[in-house]
Amino acid sequence: MRFNNPVFIPGPTNLPERLRLAIQQVTEDQRSPRFPDLTLPMFDKLKQVFRTRTGHVFVYPGSGTGAWEAAVTNTLSPGDKILTSRFGHFSHLWASLCERHGLDVTALDVDWGEGVPLDDYRRILSEDRNHEIKGVFACHNETATGVTSDIAGVRKVLDEVGHPAMLFVDGVSSIGSIEFHMEDWGVDLAVSGSQKGFMLPTGLAILGVSQKAAAASASATLPRTFFGFEDMLRTNKDGYFPYTPNTQLLHGLSEACDMLLEEGLDRVWARHRRMAEGVRRGVIDGWGFELAAKEPKWHSDTVSAIYVPAGFDAAQMIKIAYDRYDVSYGTGLARLAGKVFRIGHLGLVSELQLLSALAGAEMAMRDIGIDVAPGSGVAAASEYYRQTAAPVAVAETAAR
Ligand SMILES: *Cc1c(COP(=O)(O)O)cnc(C)c1O
Repeated sequence: MRFNNPVFIPGPTNLPERLRLAIQQVTEDQRSPRFPDLTLPMFDKLKQVFRTRTGHVFVYPGSGTGAWEAAVTNTLSPGDKILTSRFGHFSHLWASLCERHGLDVTALDVDWGEGVPLDDYRRILSEDRNHEIKGVFACHNETATGVTSDIAGVRKVLDEVGHPAMLFVDGVSSIGSIEFHMEDWGVDLAVSGSQKGFMLPTGLAILGVSQKAAAASASATLPRTFFGFEDMLRTNKDGYFPYTPNTQLLHGLSEACDMLLEEGLDRVWARHRRMAEGVRRGVIDGWGFELAAKEPKWHSDTVSAIYVPAGFDAAQMIKIAYDRYDVSYGTGLARLAGKVFRIGHLGLVSELQLLSALAGAEMAMRDIGIDVAPGSGVAAASEYYRQTAAPVAVAETAAR
């Protein structure tokens, strides 16, 4: 018997009941006159979630990787110079995608556990006096290490040195969960997908495109067909797509935007911060363990990568947790394999669910011989959640 426990992998995230119902739709005609009633408001809401007024948000059948590819192939040409940095599985993959498309990639290798190196970006961009670098890339939230980078800081660097490169941001595990301002931060390409902060099944590549990036597609010569901006722009403006869209998931996406906008993005971001902080209290104060993120300024509010003590195998702990307690944690990716397990705390997840994530991890860790006191992480996290819960009127005698 499986018990339908929530998953604590950092994507796909748990499907809220409201979205499960929203995607439960019969087949509909994607060329019908009524279809734009769904899609035109959806595009508008997506722009609010991305915080862009003048840009577009394209939705492709695909996953986040597709949005990476769409961003690159529409705006760059073979041999174009780009600047990026690598500090985890996902930032490595996007850099590698650029190399495989024949771009001239400068990838700065940063210690895993840190994020975008602003000083190095400033130095390299200020030395690029002829503005040969066409794209500056940044992974906003590196899901492998639980590190969030300062995208406003990257914009500031570009402005300080007066560099006109387009700003490409991987927001797959941040948009809709962690503060993000496409327009105010001057992000030209903002990559996301349906299965993280949007709380939906995998299947949609979502890409914010600034006017500057849309204009760049006129002269960019990397080949693209499926992902071409021109076809999207031509059809989206009337509420249609150049090919068959995933209609059920679009209903879900529209509803997911409603959920985020009804709550208010500021509150969504604050909620993610609070949920994350409880997990961090459990890990750091309760267990005395370390996060992969090296300093508080890198702490991610959507995922925590947690080092198990030296000599123990995190992969074994993850397998035990799955087999014995029916609960999933994120594995350590690439060079973190066996060293960390990850708790995803993004999307719709409650305090009590996260306490169960800590409890299940404690049980599985004890099973493989790790000396962690039962309840220690749960105690630290639960006190934090209790103390920071919304105040309600409590009888004087009960209030302690
Ligand atoms: C999940 C993720 C991706 C893309 O993944 P897909 O599996 O293609 O959806 C890219 N970047 C980051 C930071 C991610 O977390």
